[in-house]
Amino acid sequence: QVVTRIAPSPTGFMHIGTARTALFNWLYARGRGGKFLLRIEDTDRERSTPEATDAILAGMRWLGLDWDGDAVSQFERVERHAEVAHTLLENGGAYKCFSTQEEIAAFRDAARAEGKSTLFRSPWRDADSATFPDAPYVVRIKAPREGETVIDDQVQGKVTFKNAELDDMIMLRSDGTPTYMLAVVVDDVDMGVTHVIRGDDHLANAARQSLIYAAMGWELPVYAHIPLILGPDGKKLSKRHGATGVEEYQKMGYPAAGMRNYLARLGWSHGDDEFFTDAQALEWFDLDGINKSAARFDFKKLENLCGQHIAAAEDSDLVTEILAYLDATGAEKLADEKKDGLSRGMYCLKERAKTFGELIEKAYFILGDRPFEPDEKAAKSLDPVSRGILGELTPHLQNASWSRNGLEEAVSGFAEDKELKLGKIAQPLRAALAGRTVTPSVFDMMLVIGREETLDRIEDAAG
Ligand code: GLU
Repeated sequence: QVVTRIAPSPTGFMHIGTARTALFNWLYARGRGGKFLLRIEDTDRERSTPEATDAILAGMRWLGLDWDGDAVSQFERVERHAEVAHTLLENGGAYKCFSTQEEIAAFRDAARAEGKSTLFRSPWRDADSATFPDAPYVVRIKAPREGETVIDDQVQGKVTFKNAELDDMIMLRSDGTPTYMLAVVVDDVDMGVTHVIRGDDHLANAARQSLIYAAMGWELPVYAHIPLILGPDGKKLSKRHGATGVEEYQKMGYPAAGMRNYLARLGWSHGDDEFFTDAQALEWFDLDGINKSAARFDFKKLENLCGQHIAAAEDSDLVTEILAYLDATGAEKLADEKKDGLSRGMYCLKERAKTFGELIEKAYFILGDRPFEPDEKAAKSLDPVSRGILGELTPHLQNASWSRNGLEEAVSGFAEDKELKLGKIAQPLRAALAGRTVTPSVFDMMLVIGREETLDRIEDAAG
């Protein structure tokens, strides 16, 4: 069974790159009936905060990336990590090193002066335990010094590291706390992780971590190190380019489905497919499709895909998501009649909206309250002549059959009678119905709000 994980460090907000890595792991596991686990790498007590953990959990939930079981806290497993360090001492895979900070610094200075590698070579590596002082020590792995360590990576191919360049990294600090390098390996093994899909900034770590697997006689997971995300200009994605936090995208009103689609395409491809559903992504996602070169974040493409996902979604699902979105942005709870209005109007609201924010703007004719104070642009179409036209249109609407055809006939018949262009009627009508200029068509609005409300709004505007 495939078991993947996402192992974020809770030291800030949830980065879009973490979300993409989480999605890849989720797709890979869920598409294969496997498990997807979440581990919070909170061993850095100075930098880890509960708020950052909450932000990760919230981001994962918003993106719909459900994980199996409880989120694992790495910090809570320190005793187990220390236990493995002691096993390594016993099986000869590691050794106690009594070198002090000063001695290590002196070693490096000397090496530098001689033009040799400054990689620390501990004199305790093969020391006789009889010579051990009664002093603090660290536990170091006994890394091979000859030959090569090869990581057979599913994305990067075979990557070779010279063992002469790997150091005897510390497993347990002198205060008895385990290092990050040890913790990751022990946790992955204990959690049964079969596939490690993560950023390629961890590629060198994979080589070092593989030494721990070897020393413990553990089986290596399958590695897939994915290239980082770049900004549109090819530089590392940063605030300069736009939002980098998952929460910001949620707040801007991008639908989670569109976000998943876009993030899946960010560094992975399936032929020429751009727009796809979760079901398709789950079926198609594979490590083969991960690109070797770094992906560039394309805000336009994200918007475009989000628009397509909004248009394709079920109206009732959209209503639920929009209510959740309004809730998350701290908006007041909607009255039931407005919720009903949203449901009735969703068919026309969802067209051409790239974000929930845009959709909500278009829904002002439902969400706003009478009297509809026109905004500046709308007010321009409510000059005295236009208001007169609205007054004359009223009896035609009173008698029209309240269907799209009926309304179109009533309005265009009136336009013909008066020898007016349709726009001369539609513009003030739009302003009267919504007080805005960006709205669905006047016919859709009238259908959604009904005859009585339509006539009331026209009366408000025509005076
Ligand atoms: N905690 C690491 C990070 O946030 C991930 C380590 C891993 O995936 O092995 O970059």
